[in-house]
Amino acid sequence: MSTECMFCRIVDGAIPATVVHETDTVLAFRDIAAQAPTHILVIPKVHYADAAAMAAADPALAGEVLAVAGEVAKLDSVNATGYRMVFNTGPDANQTVFHAHCHVLGGRGMTWPPG
Ligand code: 5GP
Ligand code: ZN
Repeated sequence: MSTECMFCRIVDGAIPATVVHETDTVLAFRDIAAQAPTHILVIPKVHYADAAAMAAADPALAGEVLAVAGEVAKLDSVNATGYRMVFNTGPDANQTVFHAHCHVLGGRGMTWPPG
């Protein structure tokens, strides 16, 4: 676990976050700069640089991240109206934190394709 990594520090409790849900392996917390009424980040507690690296190394963990994403959508009551799960990966996707995370975005209509 890297202390240089912002999300590892949130897992450690060194940086506070508004936690929505937690399992043994996954943490879900509200994005500090919400882009929608519901904007929750779902992360594995262990460090992987991005979702593809996580899925390649530990497919079961990737499944747990997806399951928690579905759970927090229910907790925020956006499961009926719909929501988006986004894994930004690399520069063209504007990934800024290199610890795998799923954005769960909902509570408003969204355009497709994204900008
Ligand atoms: P990315 O651009 O890498 O897909 O998304 C990173 C997300 O992490 C951004 O939406 C950003 O607002 C969020 N973020 C960055 N630092 C923090 C933080 O310290 N706390 C929380 N809750 N969110 C953060
Ligand atoms: Zn990390």
